[in-house]
Amino acid sequence: MMKRLLPIVLLSAALAAQSSPAPNAPNFDGNSWWGYVKVLASDQMEGRETGSDGLRKAATYIVDQLKADGLQPAGTKGFYQPVKFVSRQIDESGSSLALVRNGKDEPLVLGEDAMFSTRVDLAPQVDAPLVFVGYGLRVPEKKYDDFVGIDVKGKVVVLISGSPSEMPSALASHYQSMSERSKALREAGAVGMISIPNPASMDIPWSRMKLARTRPSMVLADSSLDESQGIKLLVVFNPADAEKLFDGSGHSFQEIADLAKDRKPLPHFPLPSGIKAKAKLIKTQVESDNIIAKLPGTDPKLKEEYVVLSAHIDHLGIGEPINGDRIYNGAMDNGSGSALVLDIANSLHRSHASLKRSVLFVWVTAEEKGLLGSKFFATHPTVPKNSMVADINTDMFLPIFPLKVLTVYGLDESDLGDMVRQVAEQQGIQVQPDPEPLRNSFIRSDQYSFIRQGIPAVAMKVGFVPGSPEAVTEKKWLTERYHAPSDDLDQPVDLAAAGKFEDIVQGLAIKVANDPQRPQWKSDSFFRRFMAQNSAAR
Ligand SMILES: [Zn+2]
Repeated sequence: MMKRLLPIVLLSAALAAQSSPAPNAPNFDGNSWWGYVKVLASDQMEGRETGSDGLRKAATYIVDQLKADGLQPAGTKGFYQPVKFVSRQIDESGSSLALVRNGKDEPLVLGEDAMFSTRVDLAPQVDAPLVFVGYGLRVPEKKYDDFVGIDVKGKVVVLISGSPSEMPSALASHYQSMSERSKALREAGAVGMISIPNPASMDIPWSRMKLARTRPSMVLADSSLDESQGIKLLVVFNPADAEKLFDGSGHSFQEIADLAKDRKPLPHFPLPSGIKAKAKLIKTQVESDNIIAKLPGTDPKLKEEYVVLSAHIDHLGIGEPINGDRIYNGAMDNGSGSALVLDIANSLHRSHASLKRSVLFVWVTAEEKGLLGSKFFATHPTVPKNSMVADINTDMFLPIFPLKVLTVYGLDESDLGDMVRQVAEQQGIQVQPDPEPLRNSFIRSDQYSFIRQGIPAVAMKVGFVPGSPEAVTEKKWLTERYHAPSDDLDQPVDLAAAGKFEDIVQGLAIKVANDPQRPQWKSDSFFRRFMAQNSAAR
């Protein structure tokens, strides 16, 4: 999910778009959508963990619906595109962490003080000095470099998540992604990283984060797609215990957190202790499928181009119980988006919408493992890469209060933003850019995999105005239900909001499919760079 303050330029494409047919009159009432959510998020689907029987069941259900509705398969095996993964799980009984101070080990309690992250291929043993590098960012565009003037070679860097206020949020998000972080660490010669979540922007409290720490993480089996290679250690440190790292350094974590809260510049300094890590990993092979269906276009030429509607179908499976419930159903995350794409696929097909371009409906797997299914699809698409003109992704759009304002991630980055604005405003809904750019939402869901291949993309959700009662409702939802078993079917949803939201997504898909021009990145968009990087490969 993830940015913003660029001027809107009405390009000729957007103007021309006004001559294409107006989006359909209100169409959805939320009931058909909720019907699908009820199946996908039922206990039978066991929380749809990547590679699980539960997820296979959910995938079969979607494919059965697609077949019944007469959509065309567009995977490599019918509707399916199998993807291979390696799963990595930490065996804490064979793992340990300690701070080393004056030659003495001070053991850390896994789950209390800190935890391993298997997002990197943890080395069996790491013994290295620690150095605090502030936000740990290297952003060439801003000539900003937290690694300059401090020796991190052979060391483990300690950083707090976040960015200084001078950093536009698109840059801040991009450079906090695991792939960019790994690159910066490798270039600086660091062997690993201890990341302290910024207490001012934590979605999930530590008490819940620690429950998930022994869940397997995954990487694509094709190691050329593993961008964290070479990083030997990744540890997440409990901010409540982080003073342990700073004791004797002349700085306190409180001082750092207070500065980071206001996005102020941070000092850089060596820490008095080193880290000693022993990590035991259990690795297994996993296979899981993306699902791809197509609605062919009608224009002899434009039908060779595709508007992609995507949503991730996987969630977290069965895990540590919270209030006696072990099934992480993922009704909003992302049963809601998977149901929406299915509902729109069926609606467009049944209404015999004749669209000029083809539409590709893509349910990706392994989003929760780091956008892996979408990364595989976007790098190995089942249609020519250059034929995908846009990605409209839906992830956790949260219809938990009435839809009065639509939040659009990527609103000011491409023509898609202008098109959303037109569609939404025709339906009486105002749009706004991400009100919380520091949550990095634009890079935190599957649209980012398409963006990195140069494809303009947008994601939307039911919005709120900062400071409003809806903002409180949303924050409460994140704290209590996000990635918890209570994101299930027993939660209040606003069906009318879901229906209106579907109307907008469908209206946008129709508009993009019929527009004479394919959407373009804005000339000043940060994300335009990927188009240039990838054009050679097309
Ligand atoms: Zn999620």
